[in-house]
Amino acid sequence: MKAHDGMYIDGQWRPADGPDTIAVVNPADEQVIGHVPAGTAADVDAAVRAARAAFPGWAATPPAERAARIAALRDVLAARKDEIAETVTAELGAPLALSQAVHAAVPVLVAGSYAELAATYAFEEKLGNSTVLLEPVGVVGAITPWNYPLHQIVAKVAPALAAGCTVVLKPAEDTPLVAQLFAEATEEAGLPAGVFNLVTGLGPVAGQALAEHEGVDLVSFTGSTAVGRLIAATAGAAVKRVALELGGKSANVILPGADLAKAVKVGVANVMSNSGQTCSAWTRMLVDGERYEEAVALAAAAVAKYVPGERVGPLVNAKQQARVRGYIEKGIEEGARLVAGGPEAPHATGYYVAPTVFADVTPGMTIAQEEIFGPVLSILRYEDVEDALRIANDTVYGLAGAVWGADDAEAVAFARRMETGQVDINGGRFNPLAPFGGYKQSGVGRELGPHGLAEYLQTKSLQF
Ligand code: NAD
Repeated sequence: MKAHDGMYIDGQWRPADGPDTIAVVNPADEQVIGHVPAGTAADVDAAVRAARAAFPGWAATPPAERAARIAALRDVLAARKDEIAETVTAELGAPLALSQAVHAAVPVLVAGSYAELAATYAFEEKLGNSTVLLEPVGVVGAITPWNYPLHQIVAKVAPALAAGCTVVLKPAEDTPLVAQLFAEATEEAGLPAGVFNLVTGLGPVAGQALAEHEGVDLVSFTGSTAVGRLIAATAGAAVKRVALELGGKSANVILPGADLAKAVKVGVANVMSNSGQTCSAWTRMLVDGERYEEAVALAAAAVAKYVPGERVGPLVNAKQQARVRGYIEKGIEEGARLVAGGPEAPHATGYYVAPTVFADVTPGMTIAQEEIFGPVLSILRYEDVEDALRIANDTVYGLAGAVWGADDAEAVAFARRMETGQVDINGGRFNPLAPFGGYKQSGVGRELGPHGLAEYLQTKSLQF
């Protein structure tokens, strides 16, 4: 795989400050596919300085011109979609079909939505005798995870650019190659030097240096709750804006009148997609007592189609594989009924985990409370609708969820009472304009659409 041996700073690939590199491994066969430089605090500092220097010019660029650059970026991402898909497959291990349909395609939709929003967003509004100006926050430090490596980048960079902010990105160490490809795309799209900068490196070194840098006005982070807490504390101490997209333990609530077969099939697909490495995955399926065993049988049959190495890829690395297998062992230990899969690795090579389904999961079990981030579905039983609501809301998280009812009205009435940021009604469809983000410990702030753009703005009011 093509890999740059420098950092993309101020419109150029520059030599890294230090000699250290990070090996990029294909999780499907455990082969090293390239090396990228491990950034230091000095690399981060150079990138932040470039972003600061570029900020006044980009902030003053008319929104229509910013929109044109974002549209050009969308076009480059669309033109290079095959290369993007192959890169994500190589460094994340996702099946190529998934990389094409999701990892390469969704960023084009998101960039496209911000090309439009940059041109149409009301950056000025009238309120009585005041004019309110919505101005860019400044330099954004973006720290992204590996699970949807390009989407997570575009979901931060595109709205930041639309708002008039400049960016320093520190992507996940497991998936830096698609981040380098994105940096090339920003250059091809004609973004002025310094508007977008890339520093690859380790979280506790380059990531921390970026989060702590006083030249950064807003830190936007997606990843684990543990690191999110650290970043929030650092930002809080510096009175700096922060946006956090953290974990989830979302409920898929199947109400008694719903189409059970469809709800279970879509529910299983949702959890198994991307090997379960999705923060919004519906990892807890809630079914009434009467249809419970039918749902379990349907789920076991559905999951059999998810063959590791074909429809399901490996996990991103050995650490995640071990972590997920540990959760499966914990589920068995705590008395859940294993109906598919299990802790044994399905292949000797590659970081695969068997698609796993647990029945008789009770709300207090570890596998019903903690984010597993693997292909593991827990099926819980509820007594009545009030019980379903109590179970659905009974975690520290609140990122996403689904409700299936006899009709949309019934599902919506339930969804209104859920403590979560996004709910799919009777299936739902991806909408790049819909705000995405968490209630409770799933995070702070929203991504995507106009709400995602608003995160990168600050308000100034002029009184007349
Ligand atoms: P992580 O939080 O360690 O990594 C996410 C990003 O933060 C990476 O770019 C990493 O380099 C960076 N980072 C790590 N330590 C940092 C620090 N001290 N300061 C600044 N940046 C730092 O996540 P992980 O270890 O790759 O995954 C562990 C768990 O996190 C997963 O099992 C899953 O539960 C959760 N996760 C959630 C999401 C999500 O989309 N919300 C994505 C990935 C992982």
